[in-house]
Amino acid sequence: MKILVLNCGSSSLKYQLIDMDTEGVIAKGLCERIGIEGSKLTHKVPGKDDFCLESPMPTHQTAVELVMKALVDKDHGVISDVSEISAVGHRVLHGGSKYSDPVVVNEDVKKVIRECFDLGPLHNPANLMGIEACEKAMPGTPNVAVFDTGFGMAMEPKAYMYAIPYEYYEKYQIRRYGFHGTSHKFVSHETIKFGNLPEGHRRVIVCHLGNGASVSASIDGKCVDTSMGLTPLEGLIMGTRSGDVDPAVVQFIADHENLSVDEVLTILNKKSGMLGLSGVSSDFRDVEKAEAEGNERAKLANEAFRYRVTKYIGAYTAAMNGVDAIAFTAGLGENNAENRELICDNLAYLGVKIDKEANKTRGKNALISTPDSKVKVFVIPTNEELSIARDTLEMISK
Ligand code: AMP
Repeated sequence: MKILVLNCGSSSLKYQLIDMDTEGVIAKGLCERIGIEGSKLTHKVPGKDDFCLESPMPTHQTAVELVMKALVDKDHGVISDVSEISAVGHRVLHGGSKYSDPVVVNEDVKKVIRECFDLGPLHNPANLMGIEACEKAMPGTPNVAVFDTGFGMAMEPKAYMYAIPYEYYEKYQIRRYGFHGTSHKFVSHETIKFGNLPEGHRRVIVCHLGNGASVSASIDGKCVDTSMGLTPLEGLIMGTRSGDVDPAVVQFIADHENLSVDEVLTILNKKSGMLGLSGVSSDFRDVEKAEAEGNERAKLANEAFRYRVTKYIGAYTAAMNGVDAIAFTAGLGENNAENRELICDNLAYLGVKIDKEANKTRGKNALISTPDSKVKVFVIPTNEELSIARDTLEMISK
């Protein structure tokens, strides 16, 4: 059985066609610059040369049609007909407080995704466009929505409520939702499985450290807390996002720089984080290189980033009255051994001990703590597409 996974951004569309018998990727690709000049499709089939197509993509509809053409193309294609695709799994940013578990798309699901446009203004409209494009391009093929907020919806009210007048929760569902849900779900489950964690010892902290970054605490794969909030802005220092700040900072900058709240939030989302602190780049590799060359602000950004991660691990250990395993994932978490070691050095009080040799691992599941470490530490590469595909298969098999 073959499942297509779509991840639509405001001007991009990522896709993977997955064979669910082997869970292997049959083909994957990316449509860039949708709705703007210079649209481009890159289609990759393992073992073959990449196929690139520059063609106007005024809408997500056109992009989806081009993806279908690439998939069935006689030279670059991997299937003979789109009817071979059993279902499409869509990554959807926000399901509000109504939808948390994956769901087969119907009119109500689309209505809720639409109602959440102001909670996910960049992603939800694109996610809906992707769904509607597939409905037109593949009538009769089920579409499944998998919500990025889904994992965080298991939090208890004491963890998800902001201490602001309760009426704002009642009127607008203002609460903490958490994001990167498919990644936290996948990695926390994989940690339990790979680490062979016995029942009663499944308190897991997942550090998803990429351009977007978040931490989650979960017990038995069920979320207890997670660092992102109403939007992905809360929590860790990220590539361009500030993470936690005193909300009064918004007013202060707005007053002193003569900016609107919207403009200040754009600064907190797009010009802050590693980029804002270091003044070098949002990419951790660039900031690391700048630090090695003696750039003091780059050093500060790296230290502040690790300090925040360490604080969250400490807080989440307290929230769960202990921790059995810590897992690192995403671009930085999977690839940067030095950062993992420096973060774990600050966790010696928990009895965390890193095995320097094992910590050199990249790109595969690995235990990187010593046998006598009181907490097991892992590298677990995330696979959001596979997680979405598994959820999609489960939904259509019901
Ligand atoms: P992601 O959003 O998960 O794709 O992660 C992107 C971030 O991971 C970028 O800031 C990269 O600099 C960082 N990253 C990827 N590979 C490495 C690496 N080998 N060392 C340090 N950072 C890396």
